[in-house]
Amino acid sequence: MTPEQLQAACEAALAKWIPRLHLRDWRITLVMEKPSPPFEGATVLSVWNTREAIIHVDPDYLAVHKKNADAEAPGQPDADKIESMIVHELLHICEQPLLGEMQRNIKWAFGTSKEDGGAVSGDALDCWMRYRESLVNHLTRILIEADRSNGWSA
Ligand SMILES: [Zn+2]
Repeated sequence: MTPEQLQAACEAALAKWIPRLHLRDWRITLVMEKPSPPFEGATVLSVWNTREAIIHVDPDYLAVHKKNADAEAPGQPDADKIESMIVHELLHICEQPLLGEMQRNIKWAFGTSKEDGGAVSGDALDCWMRYRESLVNHLTRILIEADRSNGWSA
């Protein structure tokens, strides 16, 4: 798949899923560019107040995906991988306010470390990030399966 074909597949998935996820009032920009570390493959930056988001997709996305995720979904067609990735990034837009809440309120849930003066510890942050990723992956799977089984009327 050429980078142009990858971009076209991303745009098709955005056109399909933005209305379904009720994100029509967002300005969502697709940028075909390798995300900044530590992110790999694809990532999203979103600003809730102004309803703007930028999705970065590595032009080499499929190769990165192969390295990281094929153990989970071996043999999945490329088009499905791309669609799942776009749904995943759009769901991050939906759950993004949770991150802000977490940063304010995580102390009661995970505690703090003494060394950093009571700030949220790196472990707690990693733990929360893993929860978010697994939740987003779970919801992505449900949405894609519903789509494939004609669970959507539109
Ligand atoms: Zn993610």
